[in-house]
Amino acid sequence: MSLTKDNEFELDLVESNTEIEAKSLTVHLSHTAATIVRLSPDLMNLSCFKAYTHYIMLHDISLVITGSRILTSDSINPFPATIEINKHGYISAIINNKSSFDSYAFLENDKFIDAGDNLVMPGIVDAHVHLNEPGRTDWEGFESGTKAAAAGGVTTVIDMPLNSIPPTTTVDNLNQKIDAAKGKCWVDVGFYGGNDLVPLINAGVKGFKGFLINSGVDEFPCVNEQDGHNSIFFMFHAEMESNDGNDIDKSLEISNENADYNRFLQSRPQSLELNAISLVTRLAKEYSTVRTHIVHLSAANAIDMIRKSKSDGIPLTVETCFHYLCLSAEDVPLGRTEFKCCPPVREKINQEKLWQALFDGTIDYVVSDHSPCTADLKELDKKEEERDFLKSWGGISTLQFGLPVLWTEAKKRGCSFYNLYTWLSKNTSKQVGLQEKKGDIKVGYDADIVIWNPEETFMITKDIIQFKNKVTPYMGRTFYGTVKQTIVRGNIVFDAKNGGIKSVPYGDLLI
Ligand SMILES: [Zn+2]
Repeated sequence: MSLTKDNEFELDLVESNTEIEAKSLTVHLSHTAATIVRLSPDLMNLSCFKAYTHYIMLHDISLVITGSRILTSDSINPFPATIEINKHGYISAIINNKSSFDSYAFLENDKFIDAGDNLVMPGIVDAHVHLNEPGRTDWEGFESGTKAAAAGGVTTVIDMPLNSIPPTTTVDNLNQKIDAAKGKCWVDVGFYGGNDLVPLINAGVKGFKGFLINSGVDEFPCVNEQDGHNSIFFMFHAEMESNDGNDIDKSLEISNENADYNRFLQSRPQSLELNAISLVTRLAKEYSTVRTHIVHLSAANAIDMIRKSKSDGIPLTVETCFHYLCLSAEDVPLGRTEFKCCPPVREKINQEKLWQALFDGTIDYVVSDHSPCTADLKELDKKEEERDFLKSWGGISTLQFGLPVLWTEAKKRGCSFYNLYTWLSKNTSKQVGLQEKKGDIKVGYDADIVIWNPEETFMITKDIIQFKNKVTPYMGRTFYGTVKQTIVRGNIVFDAKNGGIKSVPYGDLLI
């Protein structure tokens, strides 16, 4: 064997004339070592070839994770295993038992992670995040946002097209976003677009977002029914006023008693979501080759309509958010605008129906819809009783805490780790077309991994928050699930015991 380049081998003369299945061996190698191997046209001895392969693989390992609870798509329950990761950041082997460091003595100590009884799970793919850069970097940014993701076990985020200036509505604007993101990402980042459909698809965006109601920012106008007809791939912020415009009590907007959350809740009734979802499902049925997606579902009254569309075979997917499953209107204190988002967090009875729909698969997955802003836009500089839920910015910051927030509620409902993995990683990576390389612990996949302790609790305090504005409705609350390490393509980007966030931004842009 000779090494021709850094990752290219030429296996020249091998001993005997035993015929081998060159094709299957080639496939095997490209999946395990991600190594280009040029096979000699001569016939090779299989055992000799295996020995070479083993040699190559061992010397290609850059990180090993072993533990008693590894979760992959292959098994409903976690099992003891050892994951070998090669220097290209791919998973090169999974061995079905726990290993000791002695087996990997050639590695440096910190390249062998014994996760013990912590859960080792595919990294979270958060398919709905607003990083707001360029243009609104006082709200968030690639650096602070992706550091928060890393600290929360999130290995990929997909950035929404709006709230940055300019929004990601043209290829030029996407390029500005890419320039702004370069060298500042601690996890992998993909992008959605809006408006300029075909060129943006060619430039690599993962999907499109449209509003059926005012988006809240002038530079991202809402779409109408005609726009939907021309679409290729669409997600909808599903709130829309009916034609008679009677959904919203207009007197609420001029009131000065809007520190009461219930008044805001009245201003965004479930009917807004029902109007929009009715239109979206109708379009989805009419243009059934187009994948249609409803973002941040809050209204449980729409679940039957969605269930019917799905059972009719319409390619419709639905997401909900951590806050709709874990916060409830009854628990929002006076003036606590950190709880405001659109559509709103609704009553407990609504929340239980969302949980049922999540468990039965009507809702496909859960995202953060991390949508931060500065404290003044939440009117936090005013006294609580003087704040106005209707006027303050609508958006909740959760990116770093989605896993523990969801797990704490989910475990009360008999949720398995596999459910959690399905909602946070498996289905989200599929939604954005990354299912061949992310969203699983599998040979050949990116080594994107979160190691966490589901039984341990912690309190959310300002000093642990990585996102830019330390404003979140979860402040001061205690949750189950502490993230120990986050690994992005074989690089440790967060290590709770050893300094937290690492200094090198290893995140790639997924374009
Ligand atoms: Zn959003």
